[in-house]
Amino acid sequence: MKRDQVIFDLIANEENRQKVGIELIASENFASKQVMEAAGSVLTNKYAEGLPGKRYYGGCEIVDQVEQLAIDRAKELFGATWANVQPHSGAQANAAVFLACLNAGDSILGFDLSHGGHLTHGSPVNFSGKLYQPHFYGVEEETGVIDYDKVEAKALEVKPKLLICGASAYSRDWNYERLRDIADQVGAILLADISHPSGLIARGLLNDPLEYCHIVTTTTHKTLRGPRGGLILMREDFDNPFGLKTPKGELRKMSSLLDSGVFPGTQGGPLEHIIAAKAVAFQEALSDEYMAYVLQVKKNAAVMASSFIEKGYKIISGGTDNHMMLIDLRNKDITGKLAEETLGKVDITINKNMVPFDTRSPFVTSGMRVGTAAVTTRGLKEEDMKKIVSLIDRALVNHDNESELGQIKKEVNNWMVQFPLY
Ligand code: PLP
Repeated sequence: MKRDQVIFDLIANEENRQKVGIELIASENFASKQVMEAAGSVLTNKYAEGLPGKRYYGGCEIVDQVEQLAIDRAKELFGATWANVQPHSGAQANAAVFLACLNAGDSILGFDLSHGGHLTHGSPVNFSGKLYQPHFYGVEEETGVIDYDKVEAKALEVKPKLLICGASAYSRDWNYERLRDIADQVGAILLADISHPSGLIARGLLNDPLEYCHIVTTTTHKTLRGPRGGLILMREDFDNPFGLKTPKGELRKMSSLLDSGVFPGTQGGPLEHIIAAKAVAFQEALSDEYMAYVLQVKKNAAVMASSFIEKGYKIISGGTDNHMMLIDLRNKDITGKLAEETLGKVDITINKNMVPFDTRSPFVTSGMRVGTAAVTTRGLKEEDMKKIVSLIDRALVNHDNESELGQIKKEVNNWMVQFPLY
């Protein structure tokens, strides 16, 4: 077969883009070489519908071992007793949970997308908002943090069957104990979607959701630094409280419902090459090196937040407990869209983001979201965060000065090549 040079040239271009730029997208990271090696392996050739030891295809003896290792390592990493490593993505993991826990039309209560929540927590454009009855809680305009009394009041009002916590753009830790109390008052299942901070949670740097939440979902490619994918965890199995029955009329344990929610509920064959890469990443995340990494991610984020504040930027909630922060640009008289475009010109990648109570559209927005997971993998430390904030500020102030932007881009590129990527 002729080599597909067009695609491989594009991959080389993308590798170069990643090498010369400063990556601040809070949901991105750089997976290790061995994670990518596993993801690019012959396991991509194998069909393995079912679970280890219970497959619908022959020839699964080896992928069974791979998947079992991934399950065992995920359980060890998060202190879980049950894990499903098959979801193709975070959205797929959440879809499987919804299918396992709910009937169409059931009430759900999640964190508002425009306050930092995720599409899969009830947005009207997503399955979660179309198939179920979504309700939302948010942050306080004054403080930028969640008022749990208001979450409780909302839960008592709308009586959700699923209470969802976790976010794509919330820089504060969560009070899972309080949320469990709220869930118990209304008889809801409590789901924590820890996609963003899961690496920090795994190594004990944030509150442990598995202690209080019935079910936990995460992506594997953000702070966890694995391949793109999803994961579902539980510390304790439980009977489905709503008495949902199987088509045969049996009551089932949540673990069994969740497994079925993934396959055959929302997916076909699992991606065993990606599951192998997850296993590699979980092993890496159990190492001392990774512990040092997540500690540095957190330190870098704290320094980055205070550097932004020193330069007059408003951080929603006034700081960060995790790896990311949401910056309200309204006092700087610049939109999120213009910030994203301007920083793109100097090879600093961020994403525009709605801020709570934003009056601009999601295509324009009044904020930007930044995170330190990727730059920390690159080897950058606290002093470097101050330099990044200075570069960002210079670029935003000079957003209409092409020659200054050209100069900043050169500085970014010359600096970044000093931190080899692969
Ligand atoms: N949940 C949260 C909180 C997320 O931030 C994301 C992704 O950004 C997802 C779910 C979806 O993950 P994926 O893009 O892998 O479907």
